[in-house]
Formats: sequence, structure tokens, C-alpha cells
Amino acid sequence: MAIESNKLTVAEPVPARERSGSFPLSTSAPSVLPAALKDPVDPARLAHTQLLQGPFWRRVPAYAEVDETEFLDHRWQAKHSITKIPKLLEALRGLVSDAFIQDAAEGFRHAPMSVRVSPYLLSLIDWTRPYEDPLRLQFIPVASRHLPDHPKLDLDSLHERADMPVPGLTHRYFDRALFLPLDTCPVYCRFCTRSYAVGIDTEEVSKFQLKVNAERWQQAFAYIRSRPELEDIVISGGDVYQLRPEQITEIGETLLAMPNVRRMRYATKGPAVMPQKILTDDAWTDALTRVVEHGRSLHKEVVVHTHFNHPREITWITQAAMNKLFERGITVRNQTVLQRGVNDDVQTMRLLVKRLGHLNVRPYYVYMHDLVRGVEDLRTTLQTGLDIEKGVRGLTAGFNTPTVIVDAPGGGGKRDAHSYEHYNRTTGISVFVSPNVHPGQIYYYFDPIDLLPPEGRARWADPAEHPRMIEEARIASLAHPH
Ligand SMILES: *Cc1c(COP(=O)(O)O)cnc(C)c1O
Ligand code: SF4
Repeated sequence: MAIESNKLTVAEPVPARERSGSFPLSTSAPSVLPAALKDPVDPARLAHTQLLQGPFWRRVPAYAEVDETEFLDHRWQAKHSITKIPKLLEALRGLVSDAFIQDAAEGFRHAPMSVRVSPYLLSLIDWTRPYEDPLRLQFIPVASRHLPDHPKLDLDSLHERADMPVPGLTHRYFDRALFLPLDTCPVYCRFCTRSYAVGIDTEEVSKFQLKVNAERWQQAFAYIRSRPELEDIVISGGDVYQLRPEQITEIGETLLAMPNVRRMRYATKGPAVMPQKILTDDAWTDALTRVVEHGRSLHKEVVVHTHFNHPREITWITQAAMNKLFERGITVRNQTVLQRGVNDDVQTMRLLVKRLGHLNVRPYYVYMHDLVRGVEDLRTTLQTGLDIEKGVRGLTAGFNTPTVIVDAPGGGGKRDAHSYEHYNRTTGISVFVSPNVHPGQIYYYFDPIDLLPPEGRARWADPAEHPRMIEEARIASLAHPH
């Protein structure tokens, strides 16, 4: 690389006898360490490498006698997952106070989601502090913490159904589509964006039907095949963990056979709530692997997208499962939902991001919580999302650093949280545009009212103020060139 005007010069090769060391290097450490420029690292900063070990599930009386082979068996996990509220309450008896059990029973009565919790998840919850526990918060509602929904919330806040040419296929972005082949999951999350469809009907919500259905799938495939611009298909749900191995293969091979399809993602929360399946459901994991390998031979990318929200969801079992996928060359990316009391502080998010990186899982997105019914207590402000992004970026590799996203209510699609046109921290209204999805259209995101300053709360208390606040935000956003 001897470029004339370049100050770099190529050194003459050093004769072997003058080199300071010899190769291969001897294995003994040098007697003098290089001078340290930084203080010794605080071991707390390596906490991401310290995963929960051993038979931790035995802390729960119901699983005290369960050995490792049984606990790693995905069939045992599925069979002992709790889907009936009385059963859950029964399993908790002795672990938590009667008052908490009453509170949870009441919470479920008003929840839009049905319940399903794996033994793995139940055994990771700290039952000595059930109100504060970040895992409990995501799956088990309690009535005493309920907050009224935001007045601007409606059930399918992302308008996924408005962009569906076929039931269960959302084509919003130019080159990618979201396929929802089924409506069941290995667990049900309180905060699910698709509570309009996912899970069984509850007292609060009767669901839009997205069952496994051969004819519906064929229509979705025909649509994808007919649109040459569709290159990237997200297979979500529900959750692909619940698909049978033949169904994993059928979807994968059908899409791989379409010349237009270049990328696919299987989306599953499974690794966060039941990593056992990857270790012991050989037929499922092998079916996934075959699609990935066939895709690779066709130069098409097939990956897994998963959904960890808290560093405590990651244990030695998760690591074994992620190692298995890594050995098979399967890329795993993660999408997190920012939730109040769960992961809405910089320390927790730093630990999550570093721990995911440790497992070779790529942190992709952190979503601002969608406007979903019955979970206003889990939402937080856009400002919190901005603060967290600032606190996380620079900690680790850029490719392991998530982007904070607002999925614009009303169907605007995903926007970088920092890209707002206007943000009023008193009314909690932020304004976004989305030139690639709907040029010229304006979208609003709303902070939860209980976190606003008193002046903002007072304005939301008066319904006549609602259109005024939105109009103010719209006009302020126009002052900003976009
Ligand atoms: C999230 C999403 C996608 C994928 O978007 P990326 O930004 O590529 O991850 C595609 N379609 C819909 C409807 C989505 O919500
Ligand atoms: S796993 Fe995903 S789709 Fe299923 S309930 Fe949870 S958030 Fe919703």
C-alpha cells in the first residue's frame, strides 16, 4: 500500500532474529503486565456473564421434586404450563399472601389476555416480592395496580387489520409483510399488541380469528407470490413455537420457493419463556435448521427473532439453547418492549443488552409500549425511551445496540424514537411522520397520563381539551421542517 502522497510508509521486514517475541508465543504470561490506564473493573460490571445456574426451579414447592431431565423436557413444560386462573392461584398458594392472590384473581377478571405461564417462568419470579417482580409484572395482572386506559387507545392500535389484504397478512411496508399463521403462544403476555387476536376469548375481549387454517395460509402465500416487491416475510403470530415441525417446514419451503422472497424471520417469544423446547424438541429445532440451511444454499437469509425483556429471563438453560442455535449457524435477534417497572431504567437495559450479546443474540429493537388495553401501568413516556437509548449506546458494539422505536399508532409503522417532529412533555403528545409508509400523514404517540406533570393531567381530565392538545401538537410539528 505504498501510495505516494500517503504519510504511511511500509516498514522493511524485520529480520526474524530481531523480533521481540517468537512464534508460536510461549504460553507463560509476561512477568510484567502492561501499565493500566483504567482502574480495575468493578465485578458488578461483568454481571452479564453471571447466569442463574443449577436447579433453580426447586425453590417453588410445586417443582421441588422435579429433576433436570424432566425440567428440560419441553413436553413436561408445556403440559405443566398453567392456563386456568384457579390453577395458577393454586400453584401460588404458600408462596404469596392471600391478599396478593385475591388481587391477581381480580386482575385477571378485567384483563384482555388469557393466561398461560410455563413452570420455567413461574420459577424465575421472585415470589418474596411479587408486586415488584419484573417477570410477574409482564404475565400476571393485579387489580390494585390497574390504571385507566388512555383516551386515545383503541384495541388494534397499530391498525394491523386495516393493512391486511388477507386475514392474518399485514402488508404495510413496501418490501416486507407480516404473516400471522396462528393465534396461540407458549405464554400469554399481559401487554400483547395483538390482544385483539391472540389467545382465547376473555371476559373482556372476543377475538379476531387467526387459527391455523390451510385455506387462509394458501391465500397469504398467493398474495406474497403475486407481489414482486415483497422480499422479507416476518412469520409471527401467535408464536411459531406453537407450530408443528411440518408447519415450520411448509411455511419455510413455500416462501423459499418464491423468487421474490429473499429474507424470512421466524418470530418467537419461546427462548425467553421456554428455552427447553430448543434443547429437547429435536423435530422442531431440526425443521427450523433445515429451512435455515436450505435458505443459505439459495442465498436467502432465514433468522429467528425473539423477545427478551429482562436480564433475569436469561439462565444457563437459555445459554444452552442459544449455543445450540449458534452452533447451527442460526442468527437470533431480539426485540424488547420497554415497560414501566420491568426494564425502564438504564441499568436494567444495559445488563439486558450485554447479556444478550454474551449469548450471541443481537439486540435489534426496543419498542415504546403500544397503546394496548388494560396495561397503562406498563407504559412509560417517550422521554424515558430517549434517556435509555442515550444510556445504552456506546456500552457495547453498535451491532449489539438496539434502536428505540415508536410503532406509530394508526399504522404509520416503526419510527426511530428520536425522529419525532414535535414532543410536548406536558401533554405527553409526540408527533411522527412516515414518508415511506404514508407520505404527508401525521401520527401521534401518547405518554401515559399518570406520568405527566399536573398541568398535563388536568388538561386530559377535560375531554374538551383533547382535540385542542392534538391540534396544538399538529401545528407545532408543522413549524419543524420535514
Ligand atoms: C415490524 C413489522 C415489520 C418488520 O419491520 P422491520 O423494521 O423490518 O423489523 C413488517 N411488517 C409489519 C406490519 C410490522 O409491524
Ligand atoms: S408471545 Fe408475543 S404474540 Fe404471544 S402473547 Fe406474548 S407478546 Fe403476544
